[in-house]
Amino acid sequence: MQRTFWDNLKRDLEAPIEARGFGSGWFAGFFGIVLAFVGAGMVAALRWPDWFSMPELDVIRAWGGFRPLVHATLLASYGLALLSLLLRPRKALGATALVMALGATILGGAAVQPQETRDWGVFFGIDFFVVNMVATGLMFAPLERLFPRNGGQRLFRQEWREDLFYFLLSSMLVQLITFLALAPSGYVNTHWGWLNGTRTAISGLPWLVQFALAMLLTDLAQYWFHRLFHRVPFLWGFHAVHHSAKAMDWLAGARMHFIEIVLLRGVTSLPLLTLGFLPSVMQAYVGLVYVYASLVHANLRGDFNGLGKWLVVPRFHHWHHAIEAEGVDKNFAIHFPILDRIFGTYYFPEGKWPQGFGVPEQVPSGYLAQMKYPFVRKQA
Ligand SMILES: [Zn+2]
Ligand SMILES: [Zn+2]
Repeated sequence: MQRTFWDNLKRDLEAPIEARGFGSGWFAGFFGIVLAFVGAGMVAALRWPDWFSMPELDVIRAWGGFRPLVHATLLASYGLALLSLLLRPRKALGATALVMALGATILGGAAVQPQETRDWGVFFGIDFFVVNMVATGLMFAPLERLFPRNGGQRLFRQEWREDLFYFLLSSMLVQLITFLALAPSGYVNTHWGWLNGTRTAISGLPWLVQFALAMLLTDLAQYWFHRLFHRVPFLWGFHAVHHSAKAMDWLAGARMHFIEIVLLRGVTSLPLLTLGFLPSVMQAYVGLVYVYASLVHANLRGDFNGLGKWLVVPRFHHWHHAIEAEGVDKNFAIHFPILDRIFGTYYFPEGKWPQGFGVPEQVPSGYLAQMKYPFVRKQA
C-alpha cells in the first residue's frame, strides 16, 4: 500500500516536461510539498525546542512574526495542494502536500505549545538538517535550471531518490559526526602542548587570513585522505560509492559511504579544531564547506579556465569524476587546485568537459547495497 503510494509520487514527480506545464498542477503540487515540509519543520521547532541545537534560532522563534509566518506557510501549502488536486489528473503530488500540511496542523499548527522532552544525550540537530537542506536546494535547483551544463538533465533524474536520501541522512548526522570528531581533536588539544605557540600565532592573525588558512590546511588533509582512498584497494571500495554517480548535480555530491564521511570529517576537522582558529572562523568554514561541496558537483556551465587554476570550480571536480582515462586519479583537491599542481595530479584542459561520469566497475544501486559494497566487492 505504502509502496504503491510512493511509486505514484515518484512517477508524478518525474513526470515528463509536457505534463508539467502551466495549468497542469505540477508546480502547485511540488511547491505545496516544499511549503508543507518547511511549515512542519517550523511547527516542530516550536513544539520540541530541546531538539534544536542552534542558539541563533531562538531569536527567530521568539520573534513576534514567527507564528503568523507559520500560519501563512501552512495556509499556502493547503491552497497549493487543493489547486494541484483540482488541476491535475494524477493526485499524488497534491495528496502528499495535503497530508503533510495536515500532519503539521495536527502537531499543533501555528498555535503549538512547547512540549517537555527527554534529554536525547546527542546532538539531534534537526534544525541544521532542515535549514541546510532547504537553503542548499533553494540555491542550487534554480541555478542549475538557469545555467545548466547538461540542459537535458532534470532535478528528478535517474537515482535522484537515492542521492536525496544520502543528502538528508548526512545533513541530519552533521552534528553527530562533528560531535564524534571532537574526541580526537579534544585529545590533541589537551595533550599536545608543543602546539601552543602555533595556536597563539594563528589566533592572532586577521580573520580573513585565518579563514583562508583553515581552508588550505583542511584541503591539504583532505587531499591525502582522498588520494589514499583512491590508492588502497580496500578503501577504494568505500570511495567507489561516491564515484558511482553517473550524473553530476548538487545532489550527487552527497553520495558517500557513511564510514568514509565519519573518517573524512575526523581527519579534515583536526587542523580546524586543534590549531587555535577562532570559533567564528570554524563556524564559517563548516557553513562554507557544505555549499562548496554541492557547488563543485553542480550541473552548472562555465569553463572558468583562469579562475579554475586557483579555486576549485565545477569543471575541475567534474574531471575528477570523469569516465575517461585521462581524468582518473586527478584533481583530488576540493578547494585549491594548487595542491594537485604541487603533488603532480593536476588535470584541467582548457574549455573541455568529460564525456561521462562514473566508474568501470558495477556498483549496486540503493543505499543499503552501497553500504555493504566495500565488504562484498571482489577485488581484481
Ligand atoms: Zn575521488
Ligand atoms: Zn565528488
